[in-house]
Amino acid sequence: MESPDETDCPEFPAHMDDDHPGEECGLFGAFGCPGAARIIFDGLFAQQHRGQEGAGIAVSNAGKIRCVKGLGLLANAVPAGRIRELAGDMGIGHVRYSTTGGGGIAHNVQPLIGDCVDGRWAVAHNGNIVNAYELRRLHQESGALFQTGTDSEMLLHLLAAPGYRKDPMRVARACETLIGAYSFLIMSRDRLYAVRDPHGFRPLVMGRLGKGWVFASETCAITQIGAVYEREIEPGELVAVDANGMASTRLSRSGGGAGLSHCVFEIVYFARPDSRVFGHNVHQVRVSYGERLAEEYPVDADIVIAVPDSGNSAAMGYARKSGIPYEMGFIRNHYVGRTFIMPGQEERASQVDKKLAAMPETVGGKRVVVVDDSIVRGTTMRRRVRTLREAGASQVHLRISCPPVAHPCYYGIDFPTAGELIASSKSVEEIRRYMEADSLGYLSVTGLLSPFADKRSYCIACFDGFYPMETGSGDKSILDEPGGPASSDS
Ligand code: SF4
Repeated sequence: MESPDETDCPEFPAHMDDDHPGEECGLFGAFGCPGAARIIFDGLFAQQHRGQEGAGIAVSNAGKIRCVKGLGLLANAVPAGRIRELAGDMGIGHVRYSTTGGGGIAHNVQPLIGDCVDGRWAVAHNGNIVNAYELRRLHQESGALFQTGTDSEMLLHLLAAPGYRKDPMRVARACETLIGAYSFLIMSRDRLYAVRDPHGFRPLVMGRLGKGWVFASETCAITQIGAVYEREIEPGELVAVDANGMASTRLSRSGGGAGLSHCVFEIVYFARPDSRVFGHNVHQVRVSYGERLAEEYPVDADIVIAVPDSGNSAAMGYARKSGIPYEMGFIRNHYVGRTFIMPGQEERASQVDKKLAAMPETVGGKRVVVVDDSIVRGTTMRRRVRTLREAGASQVHLRISCPPVAHPCYYGIDFPTAGELIASSKSVEEIRRYMEADSLGYLSVTGLLSPFADKRSYCIACFDGFYPMETGSGDKSILDEPGGPASSDS
């Protein structure tokens, strides 16, 4: 195994603030693509928004798997000079976000590599395995030694276990043992696998690049590298591709209950607007959320502005439906966030303030509708309202293009604890007063699901508290060893 390269120190993710959950992870894989490492790099680069704490690429060449990975943004973690070390036409890559901070983080950067008795494997994961804690304890009691603090490592141990190793459907059997949210790219010396949990929590898609195949969390990565989008990996589907061609099989067990549970937050916030997620263009859905908000919470106002970039699409929709002019009220500094290490809340808040500047020429003396996609803790949004008033806005009306986030996520999204979610303990009116806004309107759950014909196929547990499957009750403290604080590789 290659040693992780600590090419960067842990930093505050650029895209994260107090009012949004942390991003999750992004995957990219290539098979039959000469120069695979460069293609994977470009595919990951298009998905950098899904994780900025670490990144890695593993490539198989002549039966040997080599991996380069490190902390920080992709370009730091896998510098151009190191890509040359990764010759080969098959590989997988990962950009990572997790709740972990501190010195042990390098252990957890993916792809994870494991040397089994019959060869080396590489694994890249997006999601959260809710029974990882119980499985890990069982394997530790049998003598297994874990090298990371992530739930993702469990898959490597299952692939290596004698009971699975001799099974011709080894990868399927290993995945069927896992319960939770997972999209995996898995690579042996001569085969690449793409698999999605039966609930379909996280996206995973495939495309063609020349005669080769590519796999990605989001379609934006497929199109950005010049590949042709083919289709989604279906929930519960395992696709295997090797020199003999491609084969698709179904996981035989549903892993914690039947039924689809696509994470609606992928569409609300995480995915890039130009991606198609669960069959829907993200930008168009967000615009429709803004239109719906204008119907549900109309207001007399002079301009509609977005909190960039997260509120852009919904603000366009609100403006279009209400007939109120769409204006640019905030300017975003895209360079804040990666430059500073922010240990304390105060410093962190100060950096968040530097991220957006209000434009007095636009908002001065105006009744302003501000549209954003979500409120998590509420502290950042409160500062935004004050900033607008200081810039001269006469009224500030907040419109949020999802319902109040009142419950934590157990399926791979880094939300604060329930107590830190402002909507877990405050009514909408109490939140409005805390925000010092003139009015506050959240999109209804009905509005949230209105763009989808298959409404029951979506997880909305962070809004309504009804979790579609078990949330994992194991002793999570066992993941404190050895890779630092408990982390799930989301
Ligand atoms: S609880 Fe919320 S964030 Fe988590 S999977 Fe469900 S919809 Fe997504």
